[in-house]
Amino acid sequence: MTSSVRVRYAPSPTGFPHVGNIRTAFFNWLFARHCGGKFIVRVEDTDVARTVQGALEGILEGLRWLGIDWDEGPEVGGDFGPYVQSKRLAIYHGMANDLVQNGNAYYCHCPSERLEAIRAAQTAAKQPPGYDRHCRDLGLGPEPGAVIRYKMPLSGRTAFNDLIRGEVSFDNAVLDDFVLLKSDGYPTYHLANVIDDHLMQISHVMRAEEWLSSTPKHLLLYNSFGYTPPTFAHLPIILGPDRAKLSKRHGAVSILEYRDKGYLPEAMANFLALLGWAYDDKTEIFSIKELIENFTIERVSQTAAIFNADKLDWMNGGYIRRLTSDDFLARALPFMKKGLPEEVARPLDNDYVKKVLPLVHERAKTLADVASMESTWFFFNDNIEYDAALLIDKKMDRRQTLDMLETACARLEVLEAFDAATLEALLRPLADEIGVKAGQLFGAIRTAVTGLTATPPLFQTMEVLGKTTCLDRIGKAIGKLR
Ligand code: GLU
Repeated sequence: MTSSVRVRYAPSPTGFPHVGNIRTAFFNWLFARHCGGKFIVRVEDTDVARTVQGALEGILEGLRWLGIDWDEGPEVGGDFGPYVQSKRLAIYHGMANDLVQNGNAYYCHCPSERLEAIRAAQTAAKQPPGYDRHCRDLGLGPEPGAVIRYKMPLSGRTAFNDLIRGEVSFDNAVLDDFVLLKSDGYPTYHLANVIDDHLMQISHVMRAEEWLSSTPKHLLLYNSFGYTPPTFAHLPIILGPDRAKLSKRHGAVSILEYRDKGYLPEAMANFLALLGWAYDDKTEIFSIKELIENFTIERVSQTAAIFNADKLDWMNGGYIRRLTSDDFLARALPFMKKGLPEEVARPLDNDYVKKVLPLVHERAKTLADVASMESTWFFFNDNIEYDAALLIDKKMDRRQTLDMLETACARLEVLEAFDAATLEALLRPLADEIGVKAGQLFGAIRTAVTGLTATPPLFQTMEVLGKTTCLDRIGKAIGKLR
């Protein structure tokens, strides 16, 4: 199927790949894949002062991690690189000059002190900031330090039909004679963005709502160039559960941080898709394939999306549980190796790790959970620390607990096999025999061998720990109670 749909993700390399920004990339990619169109990446690095070293690499790494691939671009090492605006300056210069020639733009020589003074006066008078159009009709030419500004129509309205927001219209009179080409020779976002969307034959511009107020400027520019504008679709803003602007404290951090914390890319993709898009009001779990099949712009909502980190944890836990044991093992192994505390001797015994991991498969919310102190540390560290009170059930006293553990210890000592089934066959009836509840006996043994009150299934845990370790730890528990 050939399609005329061409969309782009146009990040500015000014920081880490924020989840909101990656959502924009993902929606564009899903739309392209749904329509059989093309998806490109264009780096908008025209703000030299704000460009951050390494930011682009982080953004591309985030895309690759999620499986977002792009379809064309200049060749870099046998692969497609993204388009990069700073390598296209000559194009923007030529086009800005054309606009000056045909009377749609002009050179402005105003020194920065003058612009600052205007701004200060406007602020004092509580007027909106904006250039006072001093150079607009002076017919100035180029000179060092000059900028090129757009000659904004002084009246009329600029309206367009946004695929998500419907009819949007702006009064031209409130728009400024904005800068097209800066004094450092770089284009502004507006100029480069419009020229590239045209030259790259972008059919749909899908971007965050914060760019909505730039769109009338862009439409006027398209008009001045004699270009047909693309169709616009502004994605809803993302808020925290408290409806405040999304920030770090809501968990809105770099997408790579989620990777490093052990979120699965397929869970992250599913979660991102639901930030502003929905299939219906109940279905929440979608594979990438299903997202591609069902992604349409009509299903993108106008209302703010809420970023709920608990929901992401829930979703990630579900994706982890649905992994096959082999897949879980393969993905969790690096987290185990990296995540266990320094006190645990390295290198880890691979065979032992492979016995431990399946026990936490059901409980892990993230892959990093497999190496947390509360989940698996006790498998690797003999110095488990806990308060003796934890051994004693609410309805029992110290003496009873001590007797119970001593009996259990004696019976465990004579066991030949130490597998989960044997342990269960021994300990369940033993509770009856002693006259305590199974939970009371198991609880004390659990704390004795793990130091914790919530752990993976007890008998399997004991099997993996092995007889010597279990008896040794129960012995220590008995010592604590004496
Ligand atoms: N460079 C802009 C950004 O950082 C692109 C906005 C747009 O998509 O037009 O988000």
